[in-house]
Amino acid sequence: MSFFISKEDLEYLYFVENLSYSKIEKKLNLNRGVIYHWFKKYEIKPRNYSDAGKGRKFTDEHKKKISFSNSKPHTEERKKNISNSHLGKNLTDEHKDKIRSKFIGLRPGFKHPMWKGGRSTFRNRLQQSSLYKEWRKSIYDRDLYKCQICNSGGKLNSHHIIKFSKIVEDYNLLKYEDYIMCNFLWDIDNGITLCEKCHHSIKGIEEKFEEKFKSIIYEKKKNV
Ligand SMILES: [Zn+2]
Repeated sequence: MSFFISKEDLEYLYFVENLSYSKIEKKLNLNRGVIYHWFKKYEIKPRNYSDAGKGRKFTDEHKKKISFSNSKPHTEERKKNISNSHLGKNLTDEHKDKIRSKFIGLRPGFKHPMWKGGRSTFRNRLQQSSLYKEWRKSIYDRDLYKCQICNSGGKLNSHHIIKFSKIVEDYNLLKYEDYIMCNFLWDIDNGITLCEKCHHSIKGIEEKFEEKFKSIIYEKKKNV
């Protein structure tokens, strides 16, 4: 991603100019979704959920100074900082709601996708969703793009520690909307990076690895 925006500029557009995510994207001529990443990286709280930004004063000088650099490349250090900033962070509620809202109502009456055929189609569709992609990316970022069993950085998979199908069963997820709305399914702490080979090697015995994986994530969070 080559687009860069400072935290101050973003806060200004959001809290002072009162623009929505999508308006900011339009104003800066960005693709959809780009701004989400920066809100997340800077941990800017959505205005509906907190008082952040209320009564915040931006001086005229600050307003004048605001400039948007679309071409500033990321230095290695910056990339590292961004990567580290994902450690232990979950998607904000607003972020999830926004992404979810795109899906609500898309498939009325689409029931029991996991059990009544169409399973792979359904799973594929879910994996193409921005919520899934964002979940996976947050996990890869936190795990620094390394398999958490063998430490390889080859072809990576994101694995649900508590199995996907178990969550589906436990939470009685039936419709596409149910999946999108199930926080636990998108809990970053319930995901771990595995290489394809290791992922394949635990197929069918995933439950035996739950505790081990949980403690890996726990250690990571403790050391942030
Ligand atoms: Zn591996």
